[in-house]
Amino acid sequence: MTVNLLDLDAGKLAGFFSEIGEKPFRARQLMRWMHHFGENDFSNMSDLAKSLREKLRERAEIRVPSLVRELDATDGTRKWLLSVGEGNAVETVFIPESGRGTLCISSQVGCALECSFCSTGRQGFNRNLSAAEIIGQLWWANRALGREPGGERIISNVVMMGMGEPLLNFENLVTALNLMLDDSAYGLSRRRVTVSTSGVIPAMDRLAERCPVALAVSLHAPNDALRDVLVPLNRKYPLKELMAACNRYVEHAPRDFITFEYVMLDGVNDTIAHARELVKLVKEVPCKFNLIPFNPFPDSGYGRSKNEAIAAFKAVLTDAGLIVTTRRTRGDDIDAACGQLAGKVHDRTKRSREAA
Ligand code: SAH
Ligand code: SF4
Repeated sequence: MTVNLLDLDAGKLAGFFSEIGEKPFRARQLMRWMHHFGENDFSNMSDLAKSLREKLRERAEIRVPSLVRELDATDGTRKWLLSVGEGNAVETVFIPESGRGTLCISSQVGCALECSFCSTGRQGFNRNLSAAEIIGQLWWANRALGREPGGERIISNVVMMGMGEPLLNFENLVTALNLMLDDSAYGLSRRRVTVSTSGVIPAMDRLAERCPVALAVSLHAPNDALRDVLVPLNRKYPLKELMAACNRYVEHAPRDFITFEYVMLDGVNDTIAHARELVKLVKEVPCKFNLIPFNPFPDSGYGRSKNEAIAAFKAVLTDAGLIVTTRRTRGDDIDAACGQLAGKVHDRTKRSREAA
């Protein structure tokens, strides 16, 4: 079978080069062509020997997901819809802010975890993305955005907060993360690459060992009874164990805190009493909070918390000494906000919410 070179991080690419009888250091040159310069045609790789280019053409390919559509929002947010075959598509979003540019990347086609307030969760699960399809999103965005005139990178941060649960696609995630961090590829710092998880505890421990990047944990509720409903995975990995896992992660993390994400659902998890309970829950964990006003989608059954409720909730946390930011909703006019990334998912699980 033809190898897709985008599936290989530095270690694997060096291994492939030895297999085909080439010096492993040449792999670095190839990585720079593919990832720095966004090149996917061997014939343009001028400083690679012709014989090597021939060999690569025979045995390998650089296959990126194909671009279906590119959308620009009025606030500068950009979204790419990328086809990953068989009618499935995933979305990648770029969010420019002063001093940084963040790319939000998907890890799966759909998601099996069925969080009740998430549009991806409602669509069901089709399959994991390959490492090439994960890094291919950064490849596209990087190529489309280019660099600042001074050579500064436009994409300074990556968050694994698109469609899917990254920690349930562990090996491909780690390969893609390795490429994000590699100086011959995208050269991002560990602190600027964030994996967001709904709390897959064993995989959090493995990530700490294999590739400790910044970690965001989707909390959304201060007690097990409510979290069982909002994030069904909680029935398997309840809060007490999750808090302990967060503490273990912080020992390895490039930042000395966990970011807790908390979606603000009107009348569901946004009262003062919830905020007080939350303060108690996280008191042993070094953390910061990111409150995400709920982004509605058709038939979600939830509403966005009122601004006053968000402010009052935030005040309780801040008064307890916690650092809290409220996420500004971006890219509203192109449905690019959290939880709105729909892509196209053909649910292979044949799950039907209506029947449930
Ligand atoms: N599966 C991972 C990462 C993808 S979701 C996770 O759950 O953490 C990224 C973030 O968007 C999560 O915190 C998720 O809970 C949140 N989110 C999902 N649907 C949302 C919605 N409709 N409005 C606001 N945030 C949402
Ligand atoms: Fe999956 Fe995250 Fe959506 Fe939950 S919030 S269904 S884990 S993508």
